[in-house]
Amino acid sequence: MKVTVLGSGTSAGVPTLGCRCAVCTSTNPKNKRMRASLYIEDAGQRFLIDCGPDFRTQAITNGIHDIDFVLLTHTHSDHIAGLDDLRAFNMIHKHPIAIYGQQQALEDLRHRFAYCFSPPSPGSYVPELDLQPINGMTEIRGVEVRTVPAMHGTLPLIGFRFNKFAYLTDVSQLPEESFALLGGLDVLILNALRHRPHPGHMSLSEATTAAKRIGARQTWFTHMCHDLEHEATNATLPPEIQLSYDGLTFEV
Ligand SMILES: [Zn+2]
Ligand SMILES: [Zn+2]
Ligand SMILES: [Zn+2]
Repeated sequence: MKVTVLGSGTSAGVPTLGCRCAVCTSTNPKNKRMRASLYIEDAGQRFLIDCGPDFRTQAITNGIHDIDFVLLTHTHSDHIAGLDDLRAFNMIHKHPIAIYGQQQALEDLRHRFAYCFSPPSPGSYVPELDLQPINGMTEIRGVEVRTVPAMHGTLPLIGFRFNKFAYLTDVSQLPEESFALLGGLDVLILNALRHRPHPGHMSLSEATTAAKRIGARQTWFTHMCHDLEHEATNATLPPEIQLSYDGLTFEV
């Protein structure tokens, strides 16, 4: 499985519009964070975890030429606002693209993207999305995936585990049963927003505590805001727990 971090930023991205702080004006490319998303190639499949507003740019930057399906963690805009751009791949496939998520998330998606689920007006072309509920252990086109429940403030969402790799973003709290699903990982990607606490996201210290307990060989943090300067923050963390960055790729 080859994993690419398409975006490692929080909902506003970094630079944050209108902000002139040291991180937002940094020339270090690792301080430039598009909205959080992952691209994975496995078992001959090419798929996304989340499809945010930067998806088109991310696809062009990373040479993504097709998408077979999408896994959704939840339906906040920074994780779904790029779904409209999937219509370009519909034209290649000539069939709908499957979107896997929790039942409640799919219902929300159907509401927020209502124009995709009603007859198109003549001359317009809308994405063709095939909504598929996912829960527990599933095989999708030869890719084995297990959902990992978590809380995002008061919103239940899911992360995903694939064999020795797991991706969890926008988590504020992990239930005990989910810690039990995360043993023996080689690589974990987990969200860490900033130093200060936040009701919907783990802070850096909360994420570090959770990462140490999960104990993956390597943990990469994601969904960071402009409070966390890349090099300075990484210098405070152990080598096996570090901030990720846009364009990071690894095999697992
Ligand atoms: Zn988010
Ligand atoms: Zn800033
Ligand atoms: Zn969110």
